[in-house]
Amino acid sequence: MNLLNPDTVDMQTKTAVKSNHEKVWDNCLKIIRDNVTPQNFKTWFEPIKAARLEGNVLTIEVPSQFVYEWLEEHYITLLRKTIKSQLGKDGKLEYSILMDTNTSAGQPISVRIPGKNVNTLKNPPVLAPINLNSTIKNPFIIPGLKKIDIDSQLNANYSFDNFIEGDCNRLARSAGFAVASKPGGTSFNPLLIYGNVGLGKTHLAHAIGVEIKEKFPQQTVLYVPADRFMNQFVEAVKNNSYNDFVHFYQMLDVLILDDVQFFANKERTQDVFFQIFNHLHQNNKQIILTCDKPPVDLAGMEQRLLSRFKWGLSADLTAPEFETRIAILRKKMYMEGIELTNDIVEYIALSITNNIRELEGALISIVAQSSLNKKPITIELTKQMIDKFVKNTVHEISIDYIQKVVCDYFELPLELLKSKTRKREVVQARQLAMFFSKTLTKSSLSHIGLHCGGKDHATVLHACRTVNNLIETDKKFRSYVTDIQKRINIQREA
Ligand code: ADP
Ligand code: MG
Repeated sequence: MNLLNPDTVDMQTKTAVKSNHEKVWDNCLKIIRDNVTPQNFKTWFEPIKAARLEGNVLTIEVPSQFVYEWLEEHYITLLRKTIKSQLGKDGKLEYSILMDTNTSAGQPISVRIPGKNVNTLKNPPVLAPINLNSTIKNPFIIPGLKKIDIDSQLNANYSFDNFIEGDCNRLARSAGFAVASKPGGTSFNPLLIYGNVGLGKTHLAHAIGVEIKEKFPQQTVLYVPADRFMNQFVEAVKNNSYNDFVHFYQMLDVLILDDVQFFANKERTQDVFFQIFNHLHQNNKQIILTCDKPPVDLAGMEQRLLSRFKWGLSADLTAPEFETRIAILRKKMYMEGIELTNDIVEYIALSITNNIRELEGALISIVAQSSLNKKPITIELTKQMIDKFVKNTVHEISIDYIQKVVCDYFELPLELLKSKTRKREVVQARQLAMFFSKTLTKSSLSHIGLHCGGKDHATVLHACRTVNNLIETDKKFRSYVTDIQKRINIQREA
C-alpha cells in the first residue's frame, strides 16, 4: 500500500518518508550512475520515477514512449543486472509511460500503456528487450552505414561566399557563421531564421551546413525541407519503420530543417519532431530551423514546440536595401558571366525590392530574352521585361520606386535626394517623395525618413503637412503633384 503520490514527494529532501519502491529505485540509480556517462544519466535516467513495487516487480515511470524504447535498446543489460542485484534473480521491471501530450493547461497527462512490460516474457525469467528481433525495413538504417556516409543534401552553391551581406541579413548571417564555427556549442541552439519568401532563408541555412562540413568533415549534417521530413515520417509509419526513422534523425550532429511552418496543424509530425528535437538538443547537437514568419505568428504549432524554438536565437531576414540589391545582382552577373550597364542594373534593383528570387529571376529573363531575340540588352528591353515580370507578381509600390519617379520628373540625381543638401529644389523633391511614400506605401514615418536622406519621423510628418498646404495654395505645385501621381500610376499599371 502506498499512499504517497511520487509526484508530490520531493525525492531529495524527504528521504525519511521514502517508500520501498523509491528506495529500490534509488539504489538502482546509484549503480546505473556508475555505469553510464553523466550526460546519459541526466538524459535517460534522471527523469525516471519509481511508481510502485509489487512483489518482485518494480514499475518505473518514463517520460515517453521514445525513452522507453531507447532504454530497452541501449540499457537493457545494465537494467537487467541492476534489477537483479536489488530484487533477486526473479526481479522484474515494468514501465509506465507518461505521454507528453499538451493539454489545455499545458500539463502532461499520465497514461498507462498496457502490455508494454518486459515481464510478459515468461522464459527466460530475466528481462529481455521487446524489440530485439525487429528487422531492418527501411532506408533509414542501412546495414554498415556509418554516420559519416550520410549525404548531407547540401547545395555547395549556397555558400557564405555567395551570400551578400547587408543590413537586411546581418544578424542572421553572423549568427549563422557563429553556429558554423561551433555547431552545438553556442547559445544559438536552435538557430531559427525567419523572413518572407525569397529573402534567403534556404540559402543561408545551406551556407551554415556547407561551412560546417568544410570545417568539421566528420560531423553528420543533414539538410531537409520540412515537407520531405513529413513524407518520410508518413512512409516510416506505413512501413513499420518508425523507430529507424527516429534513430536516423537522432544520430545527426546537425539538423537543418527548412520551412518549419509546414508542420502547422500536422500534429503527429510535430510530435515526432519534438522527440527528435529534444534528443538532439540534450546531446548538444545543432538544430537550424527556417520559417516564413516569426515564431509568435506561427499558428497551428504546439506550444511545447514553439517554446523550444525560442530557446536559442531567432534572427530575421528583411527586404534588402538598394545597395544590397545591386550587390546581389552584380554577384549573380559575375557568376553567370553577364555584363550589363549600370543604368540597367539600377533599373532592375529599383523595380524589384522585396524578393531576391524575383530580382534574380528578372535578371535571368532579361538576358534570356535578349539572346533569344538576338537583340542587345537596352534599357527599353529591360523596362518591357520588368513591367511584364512585375505585373505577374504582386506589385506593391516601393519608396525607392517613388524616389526614382520624383527624381526623373525633376531631373535630379537620386543621390542628391538622399543627401543632406538643403537646396530649395532638392528639399521640395524630397518632400514630395516623402509625401507619396506616406500616401502610397504602408511604410512608417521613420522608415520613410530613413530612406530619404536619414531624416527622422518628425521631418517626414512636416513634409507631408507642407505638401498638403502647398497643394491647397500653390497652383504650380499642385500640377507637380498630379503629374508625378500620373507617372507613378502609369508605370505601376504598365
Ligand atoms: P527563401 O528560402 O527565403 O525563400 P532563398 O534562400 O531560396 O529564399 O533565396 C532566393 C534566391 O535569392 C536564391 O537564389 C538565393 O541564392 C538568393 N539570395 C538570397 N539572399 C541572398 C544574399 N544575401 N546574397 C546573394 N543571394 C541571395
Ligand atoms: Mg526557402
